[in-house]
Amino acid sequence: MGKVAVGAAVVCAAAAVAVTALVVRHRMRSAECWARAAAVLRELEEKCATPVEKLWEVADAMTKEMHAGLESEDVSKLKMIISYVDKLPTGDERGLFYALDLGGTNFRVLRVQLGGREGRVVRQEAKEVSIPHDLMVGGSDELFDFIASALVKFVDSEGEDFHLHSGRQRELGFTFSFPVKQTSVASGTLIKWTKGFNIDGMVGEDVVSELNKALQRQGLGMQVAALVNDTVGTLAGGRYDDNDVVAAVILGTGTNAAYVERADAIKKWKGPLPVSGEIVINMEWGNFSSSHLPMTEYDNALDVESLNPGDQIFEKLISGMYLGEIVRRVLLRLAMQTALFGDNVPPQLKIPFVLRTPVMSAMHHDTSADLKVVGAKLKEFLGISSTSLKARKVVVQICDIVAKRGARLAAAGIVGILKKLGREGSGMRRTVIAMDGGLYEHYTVFRECLHGALNEMLGDEASSSVVVNLTNDGSGLGASLLAASHSRYLEQS
Ligand code: ADP
Ligand code: MG
Repeated sequence: MGKVAVGAAVVCAAAAVAVTALVVRHRMRSAECWARAAAVLRELEEKCATPVEKLWEVADAMTKEMHAGLESEDVSKLKMIISYVDKLPTGDERGLFYALDLGGTNFRVLRVQLGGREGRVVRQEAKEVSIPHDLMVGGSDELFDFIASALVKFVDSEGEDFHLHSGRQRELGFTFSFPVKQTSVASGTLIKWTKGFNIDGMVGEDVVSELNKALQRQGLGMQVAALVNDTVGTLAGGRYDDNDVVAAVILGTGTNAAYVERADAIKKWKGPLPVSGEIVINMEWGNFSSSHLPMTEYDNALDVESLNPGDQIFEKLISGMYLGEIVRRVLLRLAMQTALFGDNVPPQLKIPFVLRTPVMSAMHHDTSADLKVVGAKLKEFLGISSTSLKARKVVVQICDIVAKRGARLAAAGIVGILKKLGREGSGMRRTVIAMDGGLYEHYTVFRECLHGALNEMLGDEASSSVVVNLTNDGSGLGASLLAASHSRYLEQS
């Protein structure tokens, strides 16, 4: 063997030893990492646990807060807003009514011809109009003129098969999903703009009179007969379909609930008792909070860094706006502490709200053996190009923990309402919850967990009397039905 060959052999042997050492160290580090990841997951699972006893504590706390909120203003996290809606649709409504739904980047207008008990909804038509961004942050006249002129066009396009009672003005149910201090069924002052709207000089003003003025300026003979939020609209739409509907829940981007309360149980109500004896309460349950809620460090950090720290705690645990963001925060922790996605933390994972709930739900529902949907979504939305199957399984597990907690807490909230209504025990009447929102509609595991938790909490017998009915966008129809049931022509006819 020549000198050169000997030298080469020595170098090779040394390299082989070094590589082996690296592999061993890598394996050890990798084992350590997985052990640490398992510990983080275990802790998450423990902190998010919602055994049935815990759910009952949450439900009881919800019921207690409901009582407090009905007692007087500003003593509870639950505002328990009196909607002034004291006549829910019965099915006898007749005539042509309109609805206007404002509360997102689009607004919707709707007309419906109601044919009484036999005819029901004879026909309906809707149109969606997007709001130019400059109108969302401009003056109130401009915004309301834009809406009123869209209504003018909508009325102009009306076919022969819609009939207005002669001698009547058109009546409108206005779904306005911003915080409002209601002053009657058809008036209320704006507390603040949210969701990207910031209109000059509207806060403290009566929303309905602003709209009525704009309708007059546009020369449209139309009047607002009911001002509601989407949850109250959903309740009205649900009741029209099913007389046993007593509450409505929205599980979409945000969350809220409304229910029918005995007027004499509303201690803060100073008005005369309505003939029906009942008034719809808009709970604003997204703002519920309780020491019984299972909160983690991820939730606390999300809350502190949010635009409304301390507020909407229940919403931050269960709604579509936040579930994906909670998952992102856990993944970021794992990426930093356990190298779940390799040696470098994927930069996109550091961006708040990049992981939206529909993406989380797509990963959670991945049934392929190699979790290829999870792999593809991690790549597409977080820029993580290659992941091990083990890492993808961890991602699914986190989605599962976060979604289940949210769904089960939502179920506990519903049971809180049932308890307030005295409808949580055995031998109770059929009780229907009208449900709306993309989270409940599209996130199958979430929906099934919610139903499962209701069953666990109430037991087989009682839960067989509780029905959750998806009323796909019932709030638009609901608002027009409320215009009908609160029509000023009602006494005349
Ligand atoms: P909004 O609540 O804004 O009025 P929706 O009721 O349509 O609107 O709900 C939309 C929300 O539902 C989205 O913001 C999202 O959080 C959730 N969502 C929509 N699609 C899905 C899905 N496929 N999986 C899980 N959540 C979804
Ligand atoms: Mg909605």
